[in-house]
Amino acid sequence: MSKTIKKIGVLTSGGDSPGMNAAIRSVVRTCAYHNIGCVGIYRGYQGMIEGDFKELGPRSVNNIINKGGTFLKSARSQEFRTPEGRKLAHENLVKEGIDALIVIGGDGSFTGGLIFNTEYDFPVIGIPGTIDNDIYGTSHTLGYDTALNTVVEVIDKIRDTASSHNRLFLVEVMGRDAGHIALNAGIGAGAEEILIPEEDLGLERLLESLKKSKTTGKTSSIVVIAEGDKTGKNVFELKDYVESNFPEYDVRVSVLGHMQRGGAPSCFDRVLASRLGVKAVESILEGKSNLMVGLLNDKIELTPLEQAIKGHTEINKELLRVSDIMSI
Ligand code: ATP
Repeated sequence: MSKTIKKIGVLTSGGDSPGMNAAIRSVVRTCAYHNIGCVGIYRGYQGMIEGDFKELGPRSVNNIINKGGTFLKSARSQEFRTPEGRKLAHENLVKEGIDALIVIGGDGSFTGGLIFNTEYDFPVIGIPGTIDNDIYGTSHTLGYDTALNTVVEVIDKIRDTASSHNRLFLVEVMGRDAGHIALNAGIGAGAEEILIPEEDLGLERLLESLKKSKTTGKTSSIVVIAEGDKTGKNVFELKDYVESNFPEYDVRVSVLGHMQRGGAPSCFDRVLASRLGVKAVESILEGKSNLMVGLLNDKIELTPLEQAIKGHTEINKELLRVSDIMSI
């Protein structure tokens, strides 16, 4: 028998992503709807250790659905990685009367939550929040869709200047281990070539493709490169490499960086956040724990946290083919 839940704690942890505020709002309002208390835990697990808590009611989350980032702040906590830190965190939750935890974050945050559950038998549900879309058990993580739209908007602008000067632009986007942003935004922005961590297309192929572009009459080109691509060269070394093979090319580099994490969440992310928050709270009220809520085939489904952490997301191979055909 699971214990009666009277109060739920919610926190955001790890890297922030657009849609986290909308998810907090959803958790708070779903708690109010079911007549249970909700406590915001500031600065992720570090705030749990320091007792940085605030009771949240439905009106305390007014006007945040449209805001990027997370008003609860996010943090990375070394102390929570230690049994002593987690003991302090548990004592604070008990003192505050919190019976269960909703963790909005990535796989590291879920790992912390799972360890905490194992030690204290404390109910934990995860909501996937990261722009990288690299969490198993959901087709979309919170913030991914917004990040795609941001990247496409910026590349559209880069294209304007690229075509005015017959330039080749190498655009680096986020994605150390996953190429979802590069692949989808690359197709959306009409990139010539897309380099991602999951596929080693080889440098020869990049040169071939650029040669082909030139001979087929293209006057400017965009190559989208994920941070963790397999060429073994960073984006500036790639620029030198391309220029040494094609001295006639005027190559420029644009590293998009943290702008990809910011901005108002897209409508898709706001709706997803609202749905995930409702399911997270209601799963706790049904006595569930150690699960992540996610979107699969347009339904909100539950995946064991352990699988969400260990499982690998696959890129859609069809997209590679589409990209190939589009760059003819
Ligand atoms: P992102 O995808 O943006 O990196 P994340 O949730 O994976 O987000 P991490 O920095 O890996 O981010 O983890 C966030 C926090 O979760 C850590 O700072 C730490 O407090 C906690 N955490 C991660 N791994 C563990 C662990 N093995 N044991 C205890 N706590 C952990």
